[in-house]
Amino acid sequence: MIVLHPERLLAKNVLCFTTTRYHGASSGAYASLNLATHVADDEAKVERNRASLLAFLEKSDFALNNSTSTIQANAYTGPMKPLHFIAQNHSTVVSPYSESGNYPNPCDAVFAVEARRPLAILTADCLPIMIAHVEGFETAAIHAGYRGLTEGIIQNTIASLKANPNNLSVWIGPSICQKHFEIGEDILYMFAEHNKHVSFNDKTEKFHVNLQGIATDILTGLGVTNIQLSDQCTYCSDDLFSYRQSKHKGHKECGRMASIIMHL
Ligand SMILES: [Zn+2]
Repeated sequence: MIVLHPERLLAKNVLCFTTTRYHGASSGAYASLNLATHVADDEAKVERNRASLLAFLEKSDFALNNSTSTIQANAYTGPMKPLHFIAQNHSTVVSPYSESGNYPNPCDAVFAVEARRPLAILTADCLPIMIAHVEGFETAAIHAGYRGLTEGIIQNTIASLKANPNNLSVWIGPSICQKHFEIGEDILYMFAEHNKHVSFNDKTEKFHVNLQGIATDILTGLGVTNIQLSDQCTYCSDDLFSYRQSKHKGHKECGRMASIIMHL
């Protein structure tokens, strides 16, 4: 499996990555490592793809867990807990990790307060915002599109954590760039507080929004300063799923990448 990850480790003993399109079983607009069941892909293929992800996660967990001699005191060191996917729907609902997979619906952010709880977010243009405490065990994963961003999903998630925001380390993973994120005038009002991240293209007469800039401003405003930003645009890169690019190519749907975070 080929994955993308932050340039610097988010925190000691924290595994964090985003999958790419490669080495999966799906075809067409889902080619090939689609990890979402809600996008009308062949379910058996998604199941195989999820099994590959889990195998990769277990392998990385084993490799990293055995190479780090710095597992912290009081850490839970038993088997990795189950990996669940949540019912994302551009809400501002945040949930603690549930071992049994009992999550609210919708739910667009999840956090864990103990080690060895893998958190997963699915995206294809939206922002996967991955968060780790630099010393403790808290981790969080946010699915943030323009609606979640402007309606408070980041604020709700940071408020759910006990950590002081300046002890948090954040990676904004692969997502759509400003050039490729056009919006119509009808939703311009939603960005009133984020004017400086909206530009107007005279030729196409479209507005463009810098979602990563808005996320960074919100995080900074909450006291989070340790922020890394992926330089990969989902629309620009052939390695990644892009909902918008897929639409422009005439497809109704497309696959999703998973972004995973886990304190080892
Ligand atoms: Zn782009």
